[in-house]
Amino acid sequence: MTITESPEVTRFCQYLQIKTIQPTPDYAACTQFLVNQAKEIGLEYQVVEPVEGKPSVILKLAGKDPSLKSILFNSHTDVVPVYRESWNYDPFAAERVQMEDGSYRIYARGSQDMKVTGSMYLEAMRRIKESGRQPLRNVYALFVPDEEIGGAEGMRALVETQEFKDLNACFDIDEGAISSTEKSFYFASERVSCHATFTAHGNTGHGSGFVQGTAIGKLLPIINELMEYRQSQLDELTAMSGAPMLNSGHFTTVNLTMLEGGKQANVVPATYSATFDIRITPNRDHLEYYKYLEDLAAKHDCEIDIPRREKANLATKLDASNRFMKAFLDTCDSQKRVPMEVIMPATTDARYVRQAGIPAVGFNPMRNHKSLAHNHDEYVVESEFLEGIPFYVELMLSLGNVEEIVDYKSSPL
Ligand SMILES: [Zn+2]
Repeated sequence: MTITESPEVTRFCQYLQIKTIQPTPDYAACTQFLVNQAKEIGLEYQVVEPVEGKPSVILKLAGKDPSLKSILFNSHTDVVPVYRESWNYDPFAAERVQMEDGSYRIYARGSQDMKVTGSMYLEAMRRIKESGRQPLRNVYALFVPDEEIGGAEGMRALVETQEFKDLNACFDIDEGAISSTEKSFYFASERVSCHATFTAHGNTGHGSGFVQGTAIGKLLPIINELMEYRQSQLDELTAMSGAPMLNSGHFTTVNLTMLEGGKQANVVPATYSATFDIRITPNRDHLEYYKYLEDLAAKHDCEIDIPRREKANLATKLDASNRFMKAFLDTCDSQKRVPMEVIMPATTDARYVRQAGIPAVGFNPMRNHKSLAHNHDEYVVESEFLEGIPFYVELMLSLGNVEEIVDYKSSPL
């Protein structure tokens, strides 16, 4: 049986056809599409461009009481490059292909990561507007650039703008992951990324002698200690039951990624450096971990440089004691999603939102679906996309309707 294409799917495919592919994304066309959507649905919108050529589009579902803090639904507009020869479909045609079981797949780069989510936000807002329902709080859908290349000129720049601060947000729903099982994941915390470079200075000399106090001699105990720590974390992860990918956020990974120094094979180098990519689990205080690394450097007469340090609020624990978190969990329950908390093993734009002091949860309502983010022949099962829309309708309304707690004790009688 052939199912005719619904308007929701047509609009989703139009979004997929825009070539927002790194490293030369067509953000102009993307912005135009989103602005047209806002106009069609009847939403206020703004385009914020803190860095030229890097626009974020913000759509507003106006709440009844705009003085209350607002809710964000964030998604990124860019997609990763393709190996065209490994694709059986044109990655930007958004071809709708019927399977033997009668279901439809939509093939396109970005169909999973993460235009499907952005499209669900748009369709959910459209349905809420059409139904005449209005949340108490302002609800915003954000479409930001450059997540796939680190977000420095995307979300990181956006959170610094007055326009973002004026959104007055108190909670953010952000990028999640498609689940291949019946259960869904949510990410309420993430590991802290720490790039640390240890630099040692020491005696130099001819490579034929027993030179003492060398730069490398000072670095080696640091390398050994961190590699032993790495092994201990890996041993604990291996001993833990369940899928390593889902458990990995509970551990700190350490990778020695750069060794630099030395000019010639027969000259003992005067300076040598070792750089580590360390991802600190939120189960451990990352500020204390910085201190541990500094002490380790000092103990072995080395300098240390940690160029980017994350603030303390990044890994704030988020549970049902937060009213918005409770509304999120209740919506999962009413919408028959079984959410499992996972510590994000990698990073998303949610970290910039958290750094701005706004709690953020990464979620994707799609389940029992093959995960193909960044992979060849990326596709979305059409019915899964359509079923995700009512989920976001309910989530936008339930988060948008969380009432303000009036503190009677502090207000005059
Ligand atoms: Zn993504």
